Amino acid sequence: MALVVQKYGGTSVGTIEKIQNVARRVARTYDAGNDMVVVVSAMAGETNRLVALSEEICEFPSEREYDVLVAAGEQVSISLLSMALQSMGYKAKSYLGWQIPLYTDDAFSKARINEIEDANIRKDLDNGIIVIVAGFQGLDRDNNITTFGRGGSDTSAVAVAAALKADVCEILTDVDGVYTTDPRVVPEASKIDKISYDEMLEMASLGSKVLQIRSVEFAKKYGVVVHVRSSLNDNPGTLVMKEDADMETVLVSGVAYNKDEAKISVMRVPDQPGIAAQLFTPLSMANITVDMIIQNISQEGFTDMTFTVPRSDFKKALKIVEETAVKVGAAGVQCNESIAKVSIVGVGMRSHSGIASKMFETLSTEGVNIQMISTSEIKVSCVIDDKYTELAVRVLHEAFGLDNGQVVQE
Ligand code: ADP
Ligand code: ASP
Ligand code: MG
Repeated sequence: MALVVQKYGGTSVGTIEKIQNVARRVARTYDAGNDMVVVVSAMAGETNRLVALSEEICEFPSEREYDVLVAAGEQVSISLLSMALQSMGYKAKSYLGWQIPLYTDDAFSKARINEIEDANIRKDLDNGIIVIVAGFQGLDRDNNITTFGRGGSDTSAVAVAAALKADVCEILTDVDGVYTTDPRVVPEASKIDKISYDEMLEMASLGSKVLQIRSVEFAKKYGVVVHVRSSLNDNPGTLVMKEDADMETVLVSGVAYNKDEAKISVMRVPDQPGIAAQLFTPLSMANITVDMIIQNISQEGFTDMTFTVPRSDFKKALKIVEETAVKVGAAGVQCNESIAKVSIVGVGMRSHSGIASKMFETLSTEGVNIQMISTSEIKVSCVIDDKYTELAVRVLHEAFGLDNGQVVQE
């Protein structure tokens, strides 16, 4: 008998009919003789609806109350799935994060999982109960509800699989697996059979939302093999796993894009030691992650600093940066929310040169201007005007030989 953790995303539980389909699929896996823990997201659109409600009340809601609000979506889907299973004659029981409990730190809306108490779940499994867990949420040590950031149910699933030492962790979603790029942007994208943790980490952090980045970090840390596959069919999907020899042979395995960042420039900052710390410490104190940073060459003792932050933190970041800019005597702050980051990823890049220049050339041939560049061992990213995102992704996908003409369906 195996212990299977399955996670169903929002679109897979978006309607009552879909929840009933999920219940049938869960039941099928259970009937095959497996213990089952099912992690569920909120019904499609529900978390967005809750976020919009908070925005109607105030611009900067209390972080604690924000998490209480957005965690509510999953309460609906877990109970409905439990009921669906029960009405089919199965024993099922739902758990909110705090009922497990699944403990996290206290970083509201981006909490990290510290510990999962598995006693309750194990007892239920021993009694043949199908356990349904609310994704995306936990409890801090002061009994506050916390959430893990958008897409956080993936992380719940991998963490639960790691804690329970599950045999299988399946992420069931609305595509057949991880593709060479978002199949909704490039229909010619091909499904990847297996991808290394490191490549998947880059893809996820560069915008491929098929898996939340933290879920991949967790999987890598605990060696959980994650199987990303469709909730609508039984086709084998993509295994996210340790790197093996075949993976090195591919130069570029994927193209990712991200429209979720915004650019802030601080103009004419005095170019002296300690300035970067003065600018960026208040942002990190506010839990805002800064991504790319460019510092211009100093002229007459002044320099410009440009960096990107998540768009969801943009207003908060801008407020902080404007205050700091005054303190450090900068000439002003400029910002641009209409940017996108396009990236190419591949472990094969480690041992080959010329990949970055091919990327720049491909973009320039299409007249796409590059505003910022960053590289790592296995990725190259460029910030561009967001109106060119789809074009950039398509031409890069083709230039690196990733098109396969296969049409992807839901
Ligand atoms: P779920 O609701 O199941 O969590 P998500 O919407 O979070 O699903 O993730 C699945 C979506 O990720 C797909 O519909 C697809 O548009 C998008 N996506 C982006 N990049 C990729 C990629 N490289 N491979 C597969 N899907 C991708
Ligand atoms: N419901 C949450 C969201 O929409 C978590 C998830 O779906 O993974 O982001
Ligand atoms: Mg998701």
